[in-house]
Amino acid sequence: MTKYVYDFAEGSRDMKDLLGGKGANLSEMANLGLPVPPGFVITTEACTAYLTSGEVPAELAAEVTQHLDALEARMGRRLGGEDDPLLVSVRSGAKFSMPGMMDTVLNIGLNDASVHGLARQGDERFAWDSYRRLVQMFGKTVLGVDGDLFEHAFDLAKKAKGSADDLDLDAADLRGIVDEFKAIVLEETGEHFPQDPRAQMDLATKAVFESWNGERARLYRRQERIPADLGTAVNVCSMVFGNLGMDSGTGVAFTRDPSSGAQGVYGDYLQNAQGEDVVAGIRNTLPLQDLERLDKASYDQLMEIMGTLERHYRDLCDIEFTIERGRLWMLQTRVGKRTAGAAFRIATQLVDEGLISEDEALLRVSGAQLMQLMFPRFGDTSLATRLTKGMGASPGAAVGRAVFTSAAAVEWAGRGQDVILVRRETNPDDLSGMIAARGILTSRGGKTSHAAVVARGMGKTCVCGAEELEIDTAERTITLRDGTVVREGDVLSIDGTTGEVFAGEVAVTPSPVVQYFEGSLAPQDGDDLVQAVHRLMTRADATRRLRVRTNADTGEDAARARRFGAEGIGLCRTEHMFLGERRQLVETLIVSETDAEQQEALAALLPPQRDDFVEILRAMDGLPVTVRLIDPPLHEFLPDLTELTVECAVAEATGKTPDRARVRLLEEVRRLHEMNPMLGLRGVRLGLVIPGLFALQVRALAEAAKLLEDEGLHPRPEVMVPLVGAVQELELVREEAEQILAEVGVSAPIGSMIELPRAAMTAGQIAEAAEFFSFGTNDLTQTTWGFSRDDVEAAFFSRYLDLGIFGVSPFESIDRDGVGRLVRTAVEEGRATRPALHLGVCGEHGGDPDSVHFFHEVGLDYVSCSPFRVPVARLEAGRAALAAAGSDTR
Ligand code: PEP
Ligand code: MG
Repeated sequence: MTKYVYDFAEGSRDMKDLLGGKGANLSEMANLGLPVPPGFVITTEACTAYLTSGEVPAELAAEVTQHLDALEARMGRRLGGEDDPLLVSVRSGAKFSMPGMMDTVLNIGLNDASVHGLARQGDERFAWDSYRRLVQMFGKTVLGVDGDLFEHAFDLAKKAKGSADDLDLDAADLRGIVDEFKAIVLEETGEHFPQDPRAQMDLATKAVFESWNGERARLYRRQERIPADLGTAVNVCSMVFGNLGMDSGTGVAFTRDPSSGAQGVYGDYLQNAQGEDVVAGIRNTLPLQDLERLDKASYDQLMEIMGTLERHYRDLCDIEFTIERGRLWMLQTRVGKRTAGAAFRIATQLVDEGLISEDEALLRVSGAQLMQLMFPRFGDTSLATRLTKGMGASPGAAVGRAVFTSAAAVEWAGRGQDVILVRRETNPDDLSGMIAARGILTSRGGKTSHAAVVARGMGKTCVCGAEELEIDTAERTITLRDGTVVREGDVLSIDGTTGEVFAGEVAVTPSPVVQYFEGSLAPQDGDDLVQAVHRLMTRADATRRLRVRTNADTGEDAARARRFGAEGIGLCRTEHMFLGERRQLVETLIVSETDAEQQEALAALLPPQRDDFVEILRAMDGLPVTVRLIDPPLHEFLPDLTELTVECAVAEATGKTPDRARVRLLEEVRRLHEMNPMLGLRGVRLGLVIPGLFALQVRALAEAAKLLEDEGLHPRPEVMVPLVGAVQELELVREEAEQILAEVGVSAPIGSMIELPRAAMTAGQIAEAAEFFSFGTNDLTQTTWGFSRDDVEAAFFSRYLDLGIFGVSPFESIDRDGVGRLVRTAVEEGRATRPALHLGVCGEHGGDPDSVHFFHEVGLDYVSCSPFRVPVARLEAGRAALAAAGSDTR
């Protein structure tokens, strides 16, 4: 028979699945001999059974009775007894903390009779106030009465008394309020407030079960990615009272400072109050240290207990406690939440105190926390003028003058100005402006829009989707709803974490952690945070199996990533090298009508392309550099079809002889125009359709490597073919590439991207012609789900997130079940063909903490990510190795 109820003495902290976090930790404290008010826990299984069937399990009532009898015997009081009633709290408590998201009812057991019994034990005012609280809480959470009705009645009573403070209401006032509250319950529900204490308890239990599926709880779970089927436990605990006079009180405390990680206890205390008064901020709390003066015995005992808890949990704990007439009671403890900086500091402090090992310390911090420490921040923004709030798409704090075109960004930046590039949305043509700008602000697009993805890749601050801003690029103005106008040159400050946009300059603080990664701050010269980061990074590097490379396509990015610890380039996108001035050369190549013209155009492209590779291979000397042959649709390098059509039509209409080259170009643009370019002439298809294009790139790479070898360096180029779907495609490119490499006298492995489902499913065949695979999980996600990378976010992702179809965009974090399964298949089949096949990933997921764990698990050799995320990937790769070896990383 399933056991649905556990006494605290029967539980332990390892039983969170069944008893919830609160119940498990109360049990743990009880078993440590700490003063926990006696009680029992109804399990999460009882909750899920109730939520599935709509009925509480048949055995539950008898089990509760048995535990309640035991509790009553122990306390020497009966629940709701008329003379000296036992009162209980009925509190929610799920496996993962969901603060304030579910229901709790206090003072269960009070009714028209037992309130007098309680009054006789102590203080009449207190008894009526407790009853008032019960009717209010029960009415609202269990019976569904609008809470404002009670609040309103309470406020009127206070007003009638000419006071704003609850403490000015006496027993008679509170008794009157109880009557009023009960009348509200009758009016609103058609039923009397339940007088039977056991019925109160059972109804409250059901309400707590149901609150698991309340709107707040569901939303919170989706955000925090907490599974929807866990259910909540219900803690039934004998009440202790912090509101019995000035020798009573309630407080919250942390065993160390959760915001800085500094050692020493922190907390707040409120005399003559119950827990919810602290949370509601009704009266100002005192610093915990003041308790020493007010009640030294309780304070000393509390300090001792906090020491015990820290040593026992070997971590920062937060606690809730109550003092009832000089007697201390522990109401809750758990491993406390903390800021990113505190997480790193506390983890290393605990190592130094001999409480945890370095490996455990590494498991206690995360890549997401490290990321937060790497962004510059705004200091105090309280005095700044906030213009709007968009989506924080790429974190950081950027200040600069508003400019509205990529060209202006480049020009102003060239004059030494910091600029914010303001666009309705960005496209690949804005790249140079984005590079030149301090930050990017757009009014359209979501977190996977072009601006967001590219900005994140560059580690550049970006706020996107700031819909309230009307951006007029022609007039070079932003107009706000209230009519405020921001013009070109006006200073803006944008916060890529919160999405806030401020007028004028807000002061920015640089990140010392980045200075450390960049090598401009030696760890021993840094503060304790830098030293903690250094220690844990060193540990992660010593632990990880995955190598970490970077996605970089300039020498500068490559050098920076190398300082950040990159062990090579996993993706050098070569298309960026065909933009700007070189666009003209691509146009010439496309319109060339004879072989000779084509050869000439290719020959002109070769030297600049070779220079690019020299720069990159030099920056990564001695480390592998995977160069991906040109990938995106050709039309991205050509003029816009409409603009070119208009240009030619205007020329014709005004009787001018149209420029032959432009007409020819128009023909080609028309020919190459595609409805669905993402699925069109791109990647390897382009290489097979435009003869000489891939060959030019391979030659440029080989010659660059040769040049550096001749200088005595050790370039390690690798050639990667994009968008392969069939081994035959790869074989054709490979044949040509091998020939060129041989001609130049350079050796380089040739491999394939795996970014189409067909490639993954035929990986065994593709591995015949590939020395390595690199998973292009951006395209693989796009083609597996059938979601367009460019459009989905705006169109329907937020709805999908709301509906819980996924908890996070599959473009951000790998979809293990679908896309991940394809990756796993390709790994297995590829290695079956070629056991030495080298495997990596270069999609955005390569720098995503969760995904790094997945790539470790499936046995990849490396992940590759944007330079800024290299330290994050190093840290997570270390954690992944530890987690796979058996420790829990949650
Ligand atoms: C990918 O598709 O995952 C990839 C890395 O290539 P790109 O993002 O350039 O298409
Ligand atoms: Mg791709």
